Amino acid sequence: MKFKTRAIHIGSEPDAQTGAVIPPIYMTSTFEQDAPGQTRGYDYTRAGNPNFTRLEELLASLEEGKFATVCSSGLGALSAMAAMLNPGDSVIALKGLYGGTYRFFKNTPISFHVIDVEQIDEYLEQKPAWLLFETPTNPLLDIYDIRKLCSKAKSAGTLTIIDNTFATPCFQNPLNLGADIVWHSTTKYIGGHSDVVGGALVTNDTNLDEAFKFNRMSIGVNPSPFDAWLTMRGLKTLGLRMEHHQRNAMAISEFLASHPLVGKIYYPGLKAHPGHEVASAQMTGYSGMVSVEFNLSLEDTLRLIKNFKLFTLAESLGGVESLVNHPATMTHASIPDKERMEMGISDGLVRFSVGIEDPEDLINDINTQLEKLSMVKAAPS
Ligand SMILES: *Cc1c(COP(=O)(O)O)cnc(C)c1O
Repeated sequence: MKFKTRAIHIGSEPDAQTGAVIPPIYMTSTFEQDAPGQTRGYDYTRAGNPNFTRLEELLASLEEGKFATVCSSGLGALSAMAAMLNPGDSVIALKGLYGGTYRFFKNTPISFHVIDVEQIDEYLEQKPAWLLFETPTNPLLDIYDIRKLCSKAKSAGTLTIIDNTFATPCFQNPLNLGADIVWHSTTKYIGGHSDVVGGALVTNDTNLDEAFKFNRMSIGVNPSPFDAWLTMRGLKTLGLRMEHHQRNAMAISEFLASHPLVGKIYYPGLKAHPGHEVASAQMTGYSGMVSVEFNLSLEDTLRLIKNFKLFTLAESLGGVESLVNHPATMTHASIPDKERMEMGISDGLVRFSVGIEDPEDLINDINTQLEKLSMVKAAPS
């Protein structure tokens, strides 16, 4: 079965007892036992629930993996995974990491290094427990070669974990390229409607899967059955939504690429993007995130993004509605100015999570606000 068919049917068989086409939400904390210790598959919702099982079947299928574990959030999933590490273990991550991932490791006794991809061989010599990265990265949408990096890590005995939140299983399946674990914040494109927080881990390794489920239960990072149900509802349209996110992101990138107020544009779907070739080889689409460096001062950049009518100023991404974010003052505000500039996160950098509205309206909104700003700038003071 192809992707959109799996998205509708896997894990969504009608309810055996009543025939309900949409399976019910099992809002129960506990389950009746037929005799002490004799369950019908579930005993307590922190350990498991039919809504988790259905969503896990679907996520595993969409990632072309064998097993999935759903958790309370992306970071909840990271906690369930990181509980496998031992004090003294080291983790290397590639630049362009979600801020919360960085903060998580900085608060653990794990030795954690964020490195340039050019340093990978040197760091793998120390045989770290994990190599962790995102591709495309946040917020500059760099592309890393998954197959190449996984193969290097494997030779060192290092597990590779890929945060696939930006690409989604619709456009990229890292397990097929050699990754050991695919990690998702299902809060973003997978849920897709900005109404539920969740996370997931997908793997082909039965020992890893057992460890994730044990850790979820023992730490308590399970989702609610309702959240699992909502996530499943969102997933059914992932394929349709991603096609539109991508179409709109491409249209906006092409419009902005020739705009005089734009310095740089970061979208892996553009031929001029340095990662375009690798992206085209390992992805089937380029997703809906676009970052733009405007030739504007901090003040003018903030004025521009506050005035958009259709792009809501907010953190997060991947919902049906368009959002805009200013990394320098929002997601990356805690990084000292000099370091932030060196990372390429200038005052004029703006990140768009392009929604699935009609593209003409989105472009019109951006164009109108840019024109207003040009007029203000041109007016004699
Ligand atoms: C949001 C996000 C996370 C964290 O997920 P939560 O669901 O917010 O806990 C991790 N990685 C990426 C790339 C994200 O965008």
